Amino acid sequence: MGRVRTRFAPSPTGFLHLGGARTAAFNWALARKEKGDFVLRIEDTDQERSKKQFEEAILEDLRWLGIEWDEGPDRGGPYGPYRQSERGEIYQSFIAQLRTKNLIYPCYCTVEELEKERKEALKRGKAPRYSGRCFFLSSEERKQREEKGIKPSWRFRIPEGKEIVLEDLVRGKVVFHTSFLGDFVVLKSDGIPTYNFACVVDDALMNISHVLRGEEHLSNTPYQVLLYQALELTPPLFAHVPIILDEERAKLSKRRGEVNLRFFKEEGFLPEAILNYLLTLGHSFPEGREIIEGEELYTLFSLERISKGGAIFDPARLNWWNKTYIHRMDIKKLEEKLIQWGGEKVKEFKEELGEERFYLLLDLVREESITLKEMVEKLRDYVSVKEEKVEDETQLKILKFLLSSLERFNASWEEKEIKENLRLWQKESGFPPSLFYPVLRWSLIGREEGPELDRLLVALGKEKVLEKIKARMGNNGN
Ligand code: GLU
Repeated sequence: MGRVRTRFAPSPTGFLHLGGARTAAFNWALARKEKGDFVLRIEDTDQERSKKQFEEAILEDLRWLGIEWDEGPDRGGPYGPYRQSERGEIYQSFIAQLRTKNLIYPCYCTVEELEKERKEALKRGKAPRYSGRCFFLSSEERKQREEKGIKPSWRFRIPEGKEIVLEDLVRGKVVFHTSFLGDFVVLKSDGIPTYNFACVVDDALMNISHVLRGEEHLSNTPYQVLLYQALELTPPLFAHVPIILDEERAKLSKRRGEVNLRFFKEEGFLPEAILNYLLTLGHSFPEGREIIEGEELYTLFSLERISKGGAIFDPARLNWWNKTYIHRMDIKKLEEKLIQWGGEKVKEFKEELGEERFYLLLDLVREESITLKEMVEKLRDYVSVKEEKVEDETQLKILKFLLSSLERFNASWEEKEIKENLRLWQKESGFPPSLFYPVLRWSLIGREEGPELDRLLVALGKEKVLEKIKARMGNNGN
């Protein structure tokens, strides 16, 4: 096998979504595993829908995910340019080849005519495809249309009675018959190539060895294979990976904001967890392993373990992955991630608590959080002093009791001592544990359920604990 070169070829018509990110991850993993190259190519032939801001966002999101490319629009490379809108001349020379070989013909049909044809086919219960009408125009008829100033598009003539055999790396042998294919446009009337054409030219010229892409592109592949043959170019190996479905087994809609990577970034998911999770959507790691980090993400990636189906996006699974990463992460690294996500606020918490307590609290908070967002919210709750006061007489009594006990407490402020004393105070107070402890917890963090109290008290520090209890009692405890 020659050098492995894969690519990710997004159209900058929207934000990077899970499906696109998964495709990028698979191609990146294969290239890294085989010590090959990973290419980023921007497919911006749809001039109306392509936006510079989406291109920038896609690059940024890929970087965030930890996917780096070796060649691309931002960094160049030996096979550039890497933006299709800048490759016009290259495409023209290949169009010229097809024209010389008489494999394409001008089509003067209007959008309305094509639409009418499409609807009629559907009415007759047939798959809509171009009738080939313009192929049969005489040169006189063509001339007449040209004289009227009609700009033609150029269609590739599908050869009759041929079988196209694709050896797909995931799906095995897939056979297409040309009788089901319609003559397709390679160059639009505005001189811009179509996806199928530009993609073939680019994959060939960029020496792409493997194309891993979503199954939804399988229907494009026979057209692309015909173009490889017509242009006498070597096709790459194809692997069509299963489409990502939601929990109801329906196609994940791009229109749902929650499938954009940005959504997960804003919600405080870790890129490491997402990249790891994406590599399990339609692919599995050996021995059922799930948490895979660092180089193993690609050394353990294998084309053989891509499945034909079963790529289900389950938010609960992703939560599990993220939670696991948050739990396992080195505390300093986690702090870094939190600062990246939550900014100055996190630094302020640290300043207020002091270094030691801050890390104790981080540890406590991460155990009950799924995302960075949740961690920051909890840290805020834990650090801030709540104004909301206790109204209930019994609760007030408990707090008063706790306050005086804590004020008198002069042993060292450590887990063991606090644990013992809490038990003692509860007994002394005469209130049952089911009432006593939740009131204390609520006064500290605004919730009756939550982390172990001894650890929480140590992490907050005596001063903060007293301050919080007093605030809950109103009048600074008097
Ligand atoms: N630009 C195409 C897309 O975003 C790429 C398809 C392919 O990988 O060939 O879907």
